[in-house]
Amino acid sequence: MSKRDYYDVLGVTRTAEVTEIKTSYRKLAIKYHPDKNPGDKEAEDKFKEAAEAYEVLSNPEKRRRYDQFGHAGNSASGYGGGGMNMDDIFSQFGDIFGGGNPFESFFGGGGGGTRGGRRVQRGTNLRIKVKLTLEEIAKGVEKKVKVNKQVKCNTCDGTGAKDKNSYHTCNTCGGSGSVRRVTNTILGQMQTTSTCPTCNGEGVEITAKCTSCKGEGLVRGEETISINIPAGVSEGMQLSMSGKGNAAPRGGIPGDLIILVEEVPHETLKRDGINVIYDLYINFADAALGTSVEIPTIDGKAKIKIEPGTQGGKILRLKGKGLPEVNSYHKGDQLVYVNVWTPKTVSKEEKELLEKLKNSANFKPQPGKSEKSFFERIKEYFE
Ligand SMILES: [Zn+2]
Ligand SMILES: [Zn+2]
Repeated sequence: MSKRDYYDVLGVTRTAEVTEIKTSYRKLAIKYHPDKNPGDKEAEDKFKEAAEAYEVLSNPEKRRRYDQFGHAGNSASGYGGGGMNMDDIFSQFGDIFGGGNPFESFFGGGGGGTRGGRRVQRGTNLRIKVKLTLEEIAKGVEKKVKVNKQVKCNTCDGTGAKDKNSYHTCNTCGGSGSVRRVTNTILGQMQTTSTCPTCNGEGVEITAKCTSCKGEGLVRGEETISINIPAGVSEGMQLSMSGKGNAAPRGGIPGDLIILVEEVPHETLKRDGINVIYDLYINFADAALGTSVEIPTIDGKAKIKIEPGTQGGKILRLKGKGLPEVNSYHKGDQLVYVNVWTPKTVSKEEKELLEKLKNSANFKPQPGKSEKSFFERIKEYFE
């Protein structure tokens, strides 16, 4: 089998610069890449042929010998005879594609940023609301949220191209994404660089668009995202997850996911900053005789003792039973506001009993120095 001319294989002239050889080889390597042509022997041969041609023409010494002696010039190197094996070819890719999946690198994906000056598009940010219960806020929670967003098109692997033959390095800019223009001005020649109008700075020209995504490389889809909500967040707070927003067109950098915190009101507890408030109602008899009651807290029920002679309006403080501050060890308290319930109606029997009690000396209000005023209680609460 006679070998084809290396310059013909890469489709370059005998005077081509190394950059042109590289670009041309990259194009062929993507076109005939085994991942894109599984089981295709012809593609594999072309892939190897291009790799061999590149190996020789990208090396000044080998190229000189080839120019002088043809294929015989490099036979001793091993490439002139038996050709390259796949491992040799892939090890060469670090140089061509900068590592990783060549297809991705070619389109500026895989890590993002601008590659060789090419413009990489950015996906838009996505905003979602997450409803959280007080219990979830107290402990922090991992929320799995199904998000409707723009995702990479699977048909074209996000490239926007119809198939492997329908894209190539932009001819206008040679894949750099920018064009230089020299203009004559009164000050002399001026060189300006601007975004390539053909490929819009992307360095790749698509000749036939993927029909699933109309060339955008994006489709509407769903993604289930795990969001780690730290303990202590509050209504209206915004959390941000970098790169979890909408995917970018044709392998760019995805946007961020912005999570807006919404509190679900608790049935019995009210939040006040890092404190939690509970309104307790006890009857007059329990207030006078003392009792123990079960009350709700963020982490389950708790039993509290009501001392005999407890006045309405007393505030009990359960230390550390409140909410944590975000990113801090400081924790709030639960405050129990004791209300003494006065019956709105009484039976005849109850009325008689109350009439008997009301003239007792003990029932006469006699606030002393030991009673805290309303003002003092409020002050204490805000401490
Ligand atoms: Zn271009
Ligand atoms: Zn597509």
